Amino acid sequence: MIVVIKKGQQKQQIDNLVEWIRGMGLGVHISEGENSTIIGLIGDTSKVDIGLIRNLDIVESVTRVQEPYKNANRKFHPQDTIIDVGGHKFGGKHFQFIAGPCSVESEAQIIEVAKAVKAAGATVLRGGAFKPRTSPYSFQGLGAKGLALLRKAKAETGMPIVTEIMSEEHIDEFFDIDIIQVGARNMQNFDLLKRLGKLKTPILLKRGIAATIEEWLMSAEYIMSEGNPNVILCERGIRTYETYTRNTLDISAIPILKERTHLPVIVDPSHASGQARLVKPLSLASAGAGADGLIIEVHNDPAHALCDGAQSLRPEQFADVVRCMDPVLSAVGKERDR
Ligand code: PEP
Ligand code: MN
Repeated sequence: MIVVIKKGQQKQQIDNLVEWIRGMGLGVHISEGENSTIIGLIGDTSKVDIGLIRNLDIVESVTRVQEPYKNANRKFHPQDTIIDVGGHKFGGKHFQFIAGPCSVESEAQIIEVAKAVKAAGATVLRGGAFKPRTSPYSFQGLGAKGLALLRKAKAETGMPIVTEIMSEEHIDEFFDIDIIQVGARNMQNFDLLKRLGKLKTPILLKRGIAATIEEWLMSAEYIMSEGNPNVILCERGIRTYETYTRNTLDISAIPILKERTHLPVIVDPSHASGQARLVKPLSLASAGAGADGLIIEVHNDPAHALCDGAQSLRPEQFADVVRCMDPVLSAVGKERDR
């Protein structure tokens, strides 16, 4: 339920209303815009007397919200949420490039790729340390050692880092990670989401391989309802009957999410397509559809990558994607962060 407060009301009166709502056992989300204050009611509002609230002097209007996601709902928070990661902003008019290898393989590899993607225009470094592999016989990532190598790359380049968490067990090891990624396979690991909700670290929440947009937003809700408002959504392709690509990039999810939620939305064209040559066209399409950024796999030697070489760009190919992006960004009123 959303209560819109009339313009120019006294804070004390608004506070009294909020207290009264909380007294009914409901959560409250307050959004103060330039023109109005909106109070979002979270929880079971079926017993709330809508007429009673509507009749209060300070209230402009009351509407019930049908969607099950509340904190993530744009109706509760009309302005875009902007998430600051080491001075780089996700959301609003900003556009970020996250780039790096699928997995951290060695110190030399991660440092070389980090320097190359930074020079090409990336603002955040990606690299998997704990890898969710389909086969238990595939390379599983360097684990804690991989995190240490990412820290070194950050120290060398100044780039914030994003890396995936696979299990609640590792949460303490991620204490200084700038963005914690929840991979597609863990999108509905609700215990993990709840634990991440207790942090303030930005969470990159990838879409599950067979998740609807609403299920995905409900996963964001798990994190936000525990107190962490810093969720960045990542469309990474969904499973369909198509076999020419690894997944099917759901471009329409981007404008739909922009309508439904205030959270930043980025796109992973690497996992969506599985093929390096498709990364550039999908990147341009994603930006054109209104994405707030991209996460792209880049490797200094894709042919010998331990993971996802076929979809990894070489640094110069990544630089070409960045260069070609500016006209698209200016068409949609966004600017690439530098
Ligand atoms: C990844 O980003 O390395 C990854 C495994 O992605 P996803 O969870 O989208 O498959
Ligand atoms: Mn990968």
